[in-house]
Amino acid sequence: MEFNTITESLEKINSNKISIVELNDIFINRIKKNKNLNAFIYFDEENISQQIKKIQSSKKNFKLKGIPLAIKDLFCTKNMPTTAGSKILQNFQPSYESHVSQKLLDQGSIFLGKANCDEFAMGSATNTSYYGNTINPISPRGSQLVPGGSSGGSAAAVAANLCLGATGTDTGGSIRQPASFCGVVGIKPTYGLCSRWGIIAFASSLDQAGVFANNIADTAILLREIAGYDNKDSTSANREIPNYFENLNQDMSGKVVGVPKEYILPDIPEDISKIWEQAIKSLERGGVKVKNISLPHTKYALPAYYIIAPAEASSNLARYDGVRYGFRSEEGTSLDEMYELTRSEGFGKEVKRRVLIGTYVLSAGYYEAYYMKAQKVRRLISNDFNEAFNECDFILTPTAPSPAFPIGEKEDDPIKMYLNDIFTVPASLAGIPGISIPFGKSQNGLPLGIQLLSKHFDEQLVLNAGLYLEKNNV
Ligand code: GLN
Repeated sequence: MEFNTITESLEKINSNKISIVELNDIFINRIKKNKNLNAFIYFDEENISQQIKKIQSSKKNFKLKGIPLAIKDLFCTKNMPTTAGSKILQNFQPSYESHVSQKLLDQGSIFLGKANCDEFAMGSATNTSYYGNTINPISPRGSQLVPGGSSGGSAAAVAANLCLGATGTDTGGSIRQPASFCGVVGIKPTYGLCSRWGIIAFASSLDQAGVFANNIADTAILLREIAGYDNKDSTSANREIPNYFENLNQDMSGKVVGVPKEYILPDIPEDISKIWEQAIKSLERGGVKVKNISLPHTKYALPAYYIIAPAEASSNLARYDGVRYGFRSEEGTSLDEMYELTRSEGFGKEVKRRVLIGTYVLSAGYYEAYYMKAQKVRRLISNDFNEAFNECDFILTPTAPSPAFPIGEKEDDPIKMYLNDIFTVPASLAGIPGISIPFGKSQNGLPLGIQLLSKHFDEQLVLNAGLYLEKNNV
């Protein structure tokens, strides 16, 4: 298909082979034809044409001139509503732009709209969005598969070529798992590489912005633009951002890849183990040395995450009380009652579950037993990775324990849904970068993803290894 990569589109825009209007019209038409996917929860052609006019009348040398993007609805946008997929933020119009999305606007990109996501980014199937489920565009005829979550709208929009790239956020896997389900590339950078300012908070010590694209080159281009220090985020890292795109190098010879034995699980489908093996073999053919490694505390990662993330969420979500933003219940005769009714009508089931768990694990008497313990486990998991990186340069695992599943599945069992994150959560707890790249297919022809992890701030290495695997796919 023509016009499905940023590199190609930029080349055509910059050599005047296509105008910004023409390029964006292609994507606007594709979005209109694919409304059934529910990838976008805000889309307004007039808004897009205003943005285009602004870019056309500027003389600036933009790096993403006219490039159409989708923005996860967790990023505050000044000229578009922002709901976090929740009823409680229905019709909320932020008065400022998130740092990351501002950086993309500053480089001349065009925001086609806001991408659907799980409510407050809590979920793995984009089924907890108040605005309905997104459908995975790779669903075989007659079926409707989930796009993964929570950044399911972003991943689906890229996979269906409704945009050239998209932002996402990843707290426990929300970029990598949907990338794997939809067959696109998704990167979660090191915690602190991209500013969290203006991103609706879920679990602040884990939340990280990242991007989706159709290939590694485009991912590298977008990542460079969103990364960088911001003094409005106290956890933002102040360091030089490499030119990931120019530094791309698929020569992996001499590198050591770690294969963690704890990720070999008995009930993982055979096709996933198979592509994992094929990816290892492919790297070996490229001169990479394979090393079996151990990350001994892996099995505690998921339970620790499902204590820490809800604890932080329960605190972050306390601000939605009907007074300051969005939805307010009409009922209620006192202030307390108004708070209570707003929150019980405004939040969905999964969000309420997390607020309850979070409040419980932080409450007096349980704090030491749950929250403190989970924090200690988090440190052990982080130490596991530090030790492993003494033995290998990067780590290779499957991204998710299954391919995309049908809409409706796992919904009545939260634990089954949480198990989607089993391979992605450890890296989130350790704050290290992770990328998912499409590699191989399931027995039924569905896309599968391979996850590459590296040391803090070594995004270049996972991009390079990803490039190698992209070129040497099975
Ligand atoms: N699926 C995980 C959760 O529900 C991760 C979500 C995310 O990374 N935002 O918490």
